[in-house]
Amino acid sequence: MSGILKKRIALLGSTGSIGTQTLTSCKSLGYGVNVLAANRSVDLLEQQAREFTPRYVVVSDKNAYTDLKTRLADTDIRLLAGVEGMCEAAQLAENDIVCNAVVGMVGLQPTLAAIGAKKTVALANKETLVAGGKLVTETAAANGVEILPVDSEHSAIFQSLQGNDRKALKKIILTASGGPFRGKTAAELENVTVKEALKHPNWEMGAKITIDSATLMNKGLEFIEAMWLFNLMPEQIEVVIHPQSVIHSAVEYIDGSVIAQLGVPDMVIPIQYALTYPQREPTAVQRLSLTDYGKLTFEKPDFETFACLRHCIEAIRRGGLYPCAVNGANEQAVALFLAGKIKFQEIGRCVGHVLENFKCKVEKHYTLKEVLETDRQAREMVLEYCRGR
Ligand code: MG
Repeated sequence: MSGILKKRIALLGSTGSIGTQTLTSCKSLGYGVNVLAANRSVDLLEQQAREFTPRYVVVSDKNAYTDLKTRLADTDIRLLAGVEGMCEAAQLAENDIVCNAVVGMVGLQPTLAAIGAKKTVALANKETLVAGGKLVTETAAANGVEILPVDSEHSAIFQSLQGNDRKALKKIILTASGGPFRGKTAAELENVTVKEALKHPNWEMGAKITIDSATLMNKGLEFIEAMWLFNLMPEQIEVVIHPQSVIHSAVEYIDGSVIAQLGVPDMVIPIQYALTYPQREPTAVQRLSLTDYGKLTFEKPDFETFACLRHCIEAIRRGGLYPCAVNGANEQAVALFLAGKIKFQEIGRCVGHVLENFKCKVEKHYTLKEVLETDRQAREMVLEYCRGR
């Protein structure tokens, strides 16, 4: 560990699953934390603030802001609020890396703010690239900013690209565990409960992404994320179900070689690689034993039962703001499902409904305002659709 560059990071989404694991990595790497930001988990945020003594703490929720202000009154930490606060804190001169681990579209503006300030972005917030991929990648290119993937599949692709000529890439193999309902029929999924959908076989994650993994929406979002991160066409991505989650994704080159990244399913590896890139540092992660696994298996995805995956691929083929619309529809539908308002299979129907009925802009260029408006309208369309059922 000696001689490593001690970076300073701004962490957006610090109380979630990726956020807390990122802080553990920062601690073991000796990295400083300039910014902590979260939605409303006041207890955990206060505890993190006292431990990591950042310059700024940002909290989205109004009541949480007032509460935290009182709690942190004895410190020098500056408290900021909302998306504006996240944007301001992301641009802080002392940040070497902005790690965006917030959940959902709300992460888009802070990502753009960080890029505008020429900060390297470690991106765990996939919705940022799904909703505003064109805008984000163009802004990053214009500012010479690198976006480092934290998502395990994209980290695997990124790692498999190291040392190779990007022009020799033929396609990528995007692996998926298949989630808790792999092998089930649409009829069998009709009455699954929130509790059943929240039980992922391999990964410990937050509620939203766990539901997305159960519907395979998550793989659809990752399909779009990969296209933007690695500048690919839809035809260059093959989704393969791999229930053991050991091969985290792979790159096929023009000579027929396939290079993959493997490891036990533990987010510490991709999180730390994004932080230390281009270096590697030790972790305490369990080592992969191939003989303990014995065999690794692969299947084609079931696009009929898991309609969300199909809808995402169709959305990115149509282009423009369609991915933004299906993402907004999904965020709204998942919130309704978690609140017990709609059935599991309705999530896919909501996304399909918006894809079929939303008249999206398909021009190549769009503004942030258009992205936000499309997102709002897609959510509204889902609420309307569910009211009428
Ligand atoms: Mg992933």
